[in-house]
Amino acid sequence: MTDPRSQLPSVNELVDRVCAGEALPANAPRAVVVDAVREVLDEARARDGTPPDDGWESAAAQRVAERQRPTLVPVINSTGVVLHTNLGRAPLPAVAVRAIEDAAGYTALEYDLVSGRRGSRQTRIRRLLREVTGAEDALVVNNAAAAVILVLNTLAAGAEAIVSRGELVEIGGSFRIPEIIARSGCALVEVGATNRTHLRDYERALSPRTRCALKVHRSNFSMTGFTSDVALADLARFMHARDIPVVHDLGSGLLLDLSAFGLRGEPRVTESVSEGAVVIFSGDKLVGGPQAGLIAGPAALLTRMAANPLARALRPDKVVLAALEATLALYRDPEQARREIPVLAMLTTPPEGLEDRARRMAAHLPGSTVGPGWSSVGGGSFPDTALPTTLVRVPVDHPQRVLAALRDGSPPVVARTEDDAIVLDPRTLTDQEADRAAARLAEALAAMEA
Ligand SMILES: *Cc1c(COP(=O)(O)O)cnc(C)c1O
Repeated sequence: MTDPRSQLPSVNELVDRVCAGEALPANAPRAVVVDAVREVLDEARARDGTPPDDGWESAAAQRVAERQRPTLVPVINSTGVVLHTNLGRAPLPAVAVRAIEDAAGYTALEYDLVSGRRGSRQTRIRRLLREVTGAEDALVVNNAAAAVILVLNTLAAGAEAIVSRGELVEIGGSFRIPEIIARSGCALVEVGATNRTHLRDYERALSPRTRCALKVHRSNFSMTGFTSDVALADLARFMHARDIPVVHDLGSGLLLDLSAFGLRGEPRVTESVSEGAVVIFSGDKLVGGPQAGLIAGPAALLTRMAANPLARALRPDKVVLAALEATLALYRDPEQARREIPVLAMLTTPPEGLEDRARRMAAHLPGSTVGPGWSSVGGGSFPDTALPTTLVRVPVDHPQRVLAALRDGSPPVVARTEDDAIVLDPRTLTDQEADRAAARLAEALAAMEA
């Protein structure tokens, strides 16, 4: 018998067959088809030379489709984790999406349309940030990690920054305060013990080389028991009396009071600003906008930061500024912000709304139950707060296989499990997404039974 490997079609022949076929996505560039065909042939050769199960054309066309598919497709988040870092943190408000579209082409980014002269990309956003935070001045960079680097480098490069040992935290994998301080060119002076730091610890650490004190919000964990730390107000009073700036890395950056909705314990930007601190927070956590690092504080210090060459290296893009401006403008009316910023709307959805949505989902899902459960804020915010919700639970035999099937479809659905049940949380779903998520789960379960 002849070796099937000697019977393989040629690359050119197969490319022509694929291009003539029906299965190929429209407008697929020939170079991509050639690559896909080579791959399919290489694999066949490595196997035993036999054609793929679904035939040459279909296998190659499927590869082409995979390569042409963008990676950042919409995903349905039914985990109930509102700020899901792996799913892109904050979904943007509708006005921010429109602002991105408007800014995508030519736009007056650094151009003053009145005078026809060059302007600054930060002018409008600085004004808006002053308005919503109460700060004298503000600046926007790529993200909060970049903001910490810019602030520390400006204030304390070649000198010392004091930080409590209880605040030398790691935030999400690659962001560790001691490493960031080192990269900013400052010497870290640690004070206090892991669980307790007192004002006298800061006092003892002062030296002629002290240029700032950094306070870091313990966003993603909490300490209980025999603990104490120095309140920002006390630290600020002490340091400012000695002309030493205080930097407050807040992480989340809550701009509204959400205590009426059971969300307590996350410091607010305006409070830190009013203590005279240089305040750092993220654009895409509780603010609910695009990825950005926001800095708000005293004008004299912000002017120095804007003049640091690092500010140019860390500057935000026009589409980010457009989305951020649209998001922040909503805060001029707190109730409008709460309704129209998806992160805030999801965090404050009334329990009845969640229950209705859960019951609608359960109607698609035989064998499911509806009952109380918890959602979380995520993104290193409100680490101690679980939000009461209504969950749909569907007991299944192979939860991991069902999760994989949900991720594999279009749109992909990300869910979580609890014991041997698939769990859908309506908090992070719109009504339409809730229907689609439930339908996708029903389909996946039917396919597995078949
Ligand atoms: C999340 C967080 C950061 C990093 O923010 P990014 O915008 O993701 O860079 C820094 N500090 C604190 C306290 C945080 O919670």
